[in-house]
Amino acid sequence: MGGTGARPPVAETGAEMAYGPFDLSGKVALVTGGNRGIGFGIAQAVAEAGADVAIWGTNAAKNAEAQATLARTGRRVVALQCDVGDETAVEAAFAETVKALGRVDGCFANAGIGGGGSKSFLEMNSDLWHRVLRVNLDGAFYTFRAAARHMVERGGDGVLVGTASLAAIEGAPRSEHYAATKGGMISMVRAMAVEFARHGVRAHAILPGWIETDMTHRLTTNETFYGKVMPRIPMRRWGKGDDFGGIAVYLLSRASRYHTGDTFVIDGGYSLF
Ligand code: NDP
Repeated sequence: MGGTGARPPVAETGAEMAYGPFDLSGKVALVTGGNRGIGFGIAQAVAEAGADVAIWGTNAAKNAEAQATLARTGRRVVALQCDVGDETAVEAAFAETVKALGRVDGCFANAGIGGGGSKSFLEMNSDLWHRVLRVNLDGAFYTFRAAARHMVERGGDGVLVGTASLAAIEGAPRSEHYAATKGGMISMVRAMAVEFARHGVRAHAILPGWIETDMTHRLTTNETFYGKVMPRIPMRRWGKGDDFGGIAVYLLSRASRYHTGDTFVIDGGYSLF
């Protein structure tokens, strides 16, 4: 009790104390859809915590812009043009990522598209249905499969994280296609968590609430809609991409080594209210 050598509280010394397991030095993260929005928030945070990062997206200009910003962290950053709905392209991009950065420890299957374009389920055509499934669900499957093979082949360890949505668990009218992809994401992740636990490979889903990104631009610029959502968010603001940095760092870090199969709702309290 207060004996010789007892350390003064951090507040008195001004010293910074970092919790070691959150240090991501030497780790590599792959973030699909990492060139903006939620994916960029993930990529930026894990890079700041020490990880090298690969981002994939279809838009070369957005990739280059994000790569330049992320490179300011001093980490190695690779940006690849890859359509995650194209199985061959995913296999090629994954091989290129490993070639460039040596390994992948964390795979964030985050790329996704919204389901806009149908007034009602009654009129939802199968083209729209398949377009959304192709990117959001097939894309996650191709990406996770490539990452899981790599992690198991190299002797285990790693994390697979899917960006799902509240749409998976709350009724999302006129979005049955989108909701189905996000429900599928959660189920896929839970299955992988059990299958790969013995390899030390963990799997989780993140469920964002209302987040201000390009995907929701149409909604955030619609005053009526925006005004109706706001009072239902206890934290009284829409989320932002960088609100997803903390969970990404935790999941990629050693701090979460015994944690698998979870679903993280990050919505400012929306789903509770
Ligand atoms: P954005 O539209 O801001 O970003 C989407 C990202 O996905 C972009 O980087 C885009 O890059 C990439 N992408 C889209 N299609 C493909 C494709 N075929 N292949 C590779 N990359 C692709 O959206 P958010 O950041 O909002 O969304 C990220 C994830 O979060 C999505 O899965 C979305 O469903 C989910 N989500 C979002 C919510 C929100 O409120 N914003 C709520 C719940 C879930 P590019 O254009 O270069 O292809």
